[in-house]
Amino acid sequence: MKPPLLEVLATRALLGDGAMGTQLMLAGLEQGNCGEAWNLTHPERVLGIQRRYAEAGSDCILTNTFGGSRIMLNRHGHAADVAAINKAAVEIARDAFGSRPGYVIGDIGPFGGLMEPYGDFTESEVRAAFVEQAGALVDAGADAIIIETQTSLEELLIGIQAAQEAGAACIIGSMAYDVTLDGSTFRTMMGIDPERAASFMEEHGAHIVALNCGTGMDMTRARDAVLRYRDVTSLPLMAQPNAGQPKLVNMKVLYDETPEQMVIGVGPLLDAGARIIGACCGSTPEHIRAFRQSLDAHQDVNAPRARR
Ligand SMILES: [Zn+2]
Repeated sequence: MKPPLLEVLATRALLGDGAMGTQLMLAGLEQGNCGEAWNLTHPERVLGIQRRYAEAGSDCILTNTFGGSRIMLNRHGHAADVAAINKAAVEIARDAFGSRPGYVIGDIGPFGGLMEPYGDFTESEVRAAFVEQAGALVDAGADAIIIETQTSLEELLIGIQAAQEAGAACIIGSMAYDVTLDGSTFRTMMGIDPERAASFMEEHGAHIVALNCGTGMDMTRARDAVLRYRDVTSLPLMAQPNAGQPKLVNMKVLYDETPEQMVIGVGPLLDAGARIIGACCGSTPEHIRAFRQSLDAHQDVNAPRARR
C-alpha cells in the first residue's frame, strides 16, 4: 500500500508528467478530434505515452481526460461514453506504472465555454458535468483530482465542489496564467492573479495549489507564481509550465524549449516551494527524464544527513 499523496508531499517533492495533447498528436490524433475517446478506441496508444512518462520517472500521471466532461465530449458525439472514457483513463494511467506505486491524478479541464450571462451554459449544466466526471474518476480509483487550466474562479469553484462531492481524497486547483503585454506580471485571461487564486482555493478546501500551461509562463515565471502562492498559503504547491512558447511552423504548432533548457528551472522551483513539478504543452518524456535527475540530485543535497 502506498501512502496518500498529501502524506508523501509532506516528506518529499514528487515528479509529475509531461504533455498529453501534443503527444497524442504525435501518436496520430488529428487536430480537432477527440483525444479522450482514444481511452476506448486506442487505449494502447494512450498507454504507450503514459508508460514512457512512468519510465522517465513520473511519480504522478494525469489521466487522459482533459476534455472528458459531458459538455466537452458532447461536441464530438461521445456524451454517452462519459463514464466509460473516464474509467478507462484511470485504468490506463494505473497500468502505465506497472508494478511500481504511482499516483493517478484524475484530470478535469475547462468545459470549454462561458457560463450565463456571458455564454450559453448554465451553472447547473457545468456543475452536473463536473460532478459526473469527478465521480467517474474517483470511482475508478483516482488518487486525486486536478481541476486544471482554469482561468475563472467561478468555474474553478464548481470543479472543487464536484471533486468534494465525489469524495476525492486530494483536490488540486490549477490556474493558467498569461504574461501581460508589458511583461511586468501575469494573470489569468479572466484577470485573476496568483494571490487571489491561492487564497480562494484554500478558502474553498482545495489541498494543492497549482499552475499549468498559460502564455509566456516559462520555468522562471512559474517560480514567480509559486513564490507568490507561498506568500499567501501554506498548502503544497505544484507547477507544470509549457515547454516554451508555441510557434507556428509549416502550419504545425511547435514548442521548442529543450529538456536541457527547461531543467535549469527545476532546482529554483523546488527552492521556491513547489512539491510537484511536471510540465504542460510541448513537453516530452525526455523533459521528464531530465527533471527526474535534477529533482533527485536536489533532494539528495538537501536531505537530512542523519542517514548513512
Ligand atoms: Zn498546456
